[in-house]
Amino acid sequence: MDYFPVGLKLSGQPVLIVGGGVIATRKARLLARAGAELWVMAPDVSDELASLISASDRVLIQEWDERSLDGFAAVVAATPSRPVNEAISRRARETFTPVNVVDDPDLCTFIIPAIVDRNPLIISVSSSGSSPVLARRIRSDIEARYPSGYAELSRYLGDRRGQVAEHLTTERERRYFWERLLDSNEFIDLVLTSNREAADALFEKVLSEGKSPRGAVYLIGAGPGDPELLTFKALRLLQQADIVLYDRLIGEGILELARRDADKIYVGKQRSEHAMPQSEINATLLSLAKSGKRVARLKGGDPFIFGRGGEEIEGLLTAGVDFEVVPGVTAASGAACYAGIPLTHRDHAQSVRFITGHTKDHQLDLPWQQLMNEQETLVFYMGLAGLAIITRELIRAGRRPDTPIAIIEKATRVDQRVISGTLASIQQVAEMEKPEAPTLLIIGGVVTLHSSLRWYSPQQN
Ligand code: SAH
Repeated sequence: MDYFPVGLKLSGQPVLIVGGGVIATRKARLLARAGAELWVMAPDVSDELASLISASDRVLIQEWDERSLDGFAAVVAATPSRPVNEAISRRARETFTPVNVVDDPDLCTFIIPAIVDRNPLIISVSSSGSSPVLARRIRSDIEARYPSGYAELSRYLGDRRGQVAEHLTTERERRYFWERLLDSNEFIDLVLTSNREAADALFEKVLSEGKSPRGAVYLIGAGPGDPELLTFKALRLLQQADIVLYDRLIGEGILELARRDADKIYVGKQRSEHAMPQSEINATLLSLAKSGKRVARLKGGDPFIFGRGGEEIEGLLTAGVDFEVVPGVTAASGAACYAGIPLTHRDHAQSVRFITGHTKDHQLDLPWQQLMNEQETLVFYMGLAGLAIITRELIRAGRRPDTPIAIIEKATRVDQRVISGTLASIQQVAEMEKPEAPTLLIIGGVVTLHSSLRWYSPQQN
């Protein structure tokens, strides 16, 4: 972080603006909204700036003088002269006065972000000076998303903090209450449309609805890696969770979307290195939920596709614990789309089959004869270790040795790789390319489309 965002309390504080032109006026307007006592130092000032100052009996100094920088809560330099700006910046640093030099990040000790003012809700967007236009674009998006009524909403909530604190004594109860209240679109609409009585009634109702939060488990499909493939529902529940259980298939980018103060527990699952046995995962989910926690269990891909999601909810069902299962983009869909390999295609495949290639004692017992349809795409999950067995058995059972196959490594992630070959050649190619987990095998005529369709994929490979 190049700049750490903080909020300065400027109400009644003297702030100096050096410069009297359009930009100085713009900054003065903002600072006036923060209640600052404006001082302006300039040979000449715009009419608006003059009225901003005189309206509240503020002082105008004509001459630029180094010593008169002292004693200000902040200084903003908006002069056209770099030497003057530099001198102001130097003097301000010497006296530890926060200084902003417009359009010159090197001379600043603070920068002024783009602001969405829904006071007391203030949203600020900054690009650390790298692109003010980008910051303003983002501000416009936020402005559209949070209309001016959000000022009223945040005031409404602020006014009731005391009442809620009296009623609910623990921090967790309070947080749960506020979340439930704000989950209610009806409540938000009532406040935004100034329907005060109905809003109050709903507020009281939610407040009276029991103090102790009920625990719950959210079994969330987190997709194959790219955080943008999360569903809205996955994101919402993830952000509500007090505790997040995750395994190796869950990338950093997804974990970062959880609440900062949520506990994050790694439950492992490397091939043949189970950090926490499945039975223990099930028991943990159950006991946490029973103690009133909301637990997000993040699963790679979709929880009900080779995810043991069914087992994890069985115990919850029996114990009567609330749970939700959120579907996710399974690795096959993610890999197929990002690699430009449609799983079905009029000319190549009318069906697709998801198969586990997980070997046990170096054996893989599959109904190979059922996998002979050339018009069906085969997708093997957990198939890399058994690659030699899979290709050998498919050929032995009658598949053509030149049947195309692709190994998709780390599908949808920034370092995704597609390694392709034929049933006869892929083993050798894989020995050279050494793909790393997680990998997915796609077999069938659709794989030939990779070379022509890959331009279409958002990733380069
Ligand atoms: N529930 C998951 C599958 C879990 S089984 C889903 O729906 O995707 C674990 C296997 O999924 C891995 O061995 C690998 O074959 C596959 N897999 C998961 N994420 C992957 C990724 N990003 N790229 C390639 N394969 C992946």
